[in-house]
Amino acid sequence: MTSLPALRTGKPRSEFGHVRPTKELEIPFAIIEGAEEGPCLLVTAGVHGSEFCSIEATVRLMKTKPEEIKGTLIVLPILNVEAFYRRKIYIMPQDGKNLNRMFPGKPDGTTSEQLAHWLVTEVFPKADAYIDCHGGDLNEGLAPFTIFPSGCEKSKALAAAFGIRVAVAAGGSGYSVDASHKLGVPSILPEASGNGLWGEATVTQMTDGVRRVMQHIGMLPGEAPITALDVVTMWVPTALVTGLWYPQKDLGDRVAVGELLGEIKTVFGETLASIHCEKAGFILYRLTSLSVNENEALLGVGTPA
Ligand SMILES: [Zn+2]
Repeated sequence: MTSLPALRTGKPRSEFGHVRPTKELEIPFAIIEGAEEGPCLLVTAGVHGSEFCSIEATVRLMKTKPEEIKGTLIVLPILNVEAFYRRKIYIMPQDGKNLNRMFPGKPDGTTSEQLAHWLVTEVFPKADAYIDCHGGDLNEGLAPFTIFPSGCEKSKALAAAFGIRVAVAAGGSGYSVDASHKLGVPSILPEASGNGLWGEATVTQMTDGVRRVMQHIGMLPGEAPITALDVVTMWVPTALVTGLWYPQKDLGDRVAVGELLGEIKTVFGETLASIHCEKAGFILYRLTSLSVNENEALLGVGTPA
């Protein structure tokens, strides 16, 4: 099966299985169709295979009962299955590329490009709204935030319903929710928990957020409380050299322009690079591993938009 099963059959059901976007990929899915017609919400996780909190949250969402909802819920809980089982960070092991930089993908490209293309052509167009769940990878600490495509008010409204106060307005392209937004499907990318941890509080934060979005779009009864968002943009300094990373700031710390954010040193203690703050704001996430490689992100600074 290279496509998801038909969505609107008119019969309430929970359907589970695996779909083959390419010859070498097999990914799990769940489709929950309610008794009444309504919107279609797509929820994905595991674009980054070791962001376990978001994966466990979507595994739980697959247990949603057809009688609970109006419309259809599509859940793809682990897009990057190989990275999940091999506990790889950032990339798809098949081609070494970050799936969340590959959108809209290529039909004849490498594995991650083909998977992105399949999502953009086969899956995103079926949805009325899209949530791509993420979190801090095995090597990243993170304070929760929701990314939405800059300038898209409908996506921003989904972020306000999801309920995380900090919202990052993201420009650029290549990432899942931008590709979806460009097809006219409002989309958000919530990030919760870090270092691959999947504690009860953060998993529940993710599932509760998805349920509030389901209320917001009319799939679940009740009105979602709307969170007043602190909208920021994100500045991400990267490592200019490989070495040992010594951050100077904690998650949530306020930082001013010119402040020392951290240093990269040799194993003998010689300083190779000092990273100074270029945009005032606060720390949204940071690399927590002692090792750092050239070109890797060191931290994210949220700057009031
Ligand atoms: Zn991620």
